[in-house]
Amino acid sequence: MFPLHYEGDIFRPPSEARSLILQATIGCSHNRCTFCAMYKRKKFRERNLDELEKEINAAGRTWPHTRRVFLADGNALTMASEKLRSILELLNTSFPHLERVAIYSNPHDLLQKESSELTELRRLKLGMIYLGVESGSASLLQAVNKGATPAEMILGAARVKEAGIPLSITVINGLAGREGSAEHARETARLLNEIDPEYLGLLSLMIIPGTTLYRQVKEGRLTPLGPWEMLQEIRLMVEHLSLSNCLFRANHASNYLPLKAVLSKDQESLLTALDEVLKEKAPGILRSEIHRML
Ligand code: SF4
Repeated sequence: MFPLHYEGDIFRPPSEARSLILQATIGCSHNRCTFCAMYKRKKFRERNLDELEKEINAAGRTWPHTRRVFLADGNALTMASEKLRSILELLNTSFPHLERVAIYSNPHDLLQKESSELTELRRLKLGMIYLGVESGSASLLQAVNKGATPAEMILGAARVKEAGIPLSITVINGLAGREGSAEHARETARLLNEIDPEYLGLLSLMIIPGTTLYRQVKEGRLTPLGPWEMLQEIRLMVEHLSLSNCLFRANHASNYLPLKAVLSKDQESLLTALDEVLKEKAPGILRSEIHRML
């Protein structure tokens, strides 16, 4: 019998494709972002520890060589530190080769935890926190109902860095539509420069039926960017980035152009490659050329 119990659709970052996924919470405790439909059908709740313990024990017997675990759903870091500690201890016991546990967080989850609590979780192999900041524009974050300001995100991210846990930030290309694209690009670069994350993932906005954002587009209140405008927005953001050592990836299924670079090392070559692609405006150039140029 399959040892893990999953409720509804399961989402995980692309880099967790090989991780064992344990659904520690169901849904997202915020669940109000205008563009997001991932957890709309789920009412948020935490799974109880007894239930999780049985699952972890069974998974340990089935896959004893597991090295990586991802704790789903939307923001499992919202759980109290004590409960997270217990889950991590169980994982460490059941998986003797465990190297890293990763988790999604929203900004308020980080603000509810002291650095010392995060340090303790790191000691138990919490080794990656994925934080969706989406944009650095205060007005856009308010418009999309993200529930956090850029200042709160900077504060939360600083706690993660202080605890020594690698931070992976996600930003949404095209989120402001044509109307706010330039501000979104510049302000996002400004926020990222403040946070200086180890990893940066760029997704392209997907307009999903049933969301508030979908209605806004239908009503003509937001003009989605075309593929070339998406690239121009990326170019503007990259131009304004000043990161010390960040692995930048735009390789999600939603992206028009797969990109991978280390910033700041590859920043100039990435800009040159984007300029070349934008100059040609030939779809055929996209995948092959960008990799040749980087
Ligand atoms: S916090 Fe994340 S998962 Fe929750 S609604 Fe917003 S984008 Fe979706």
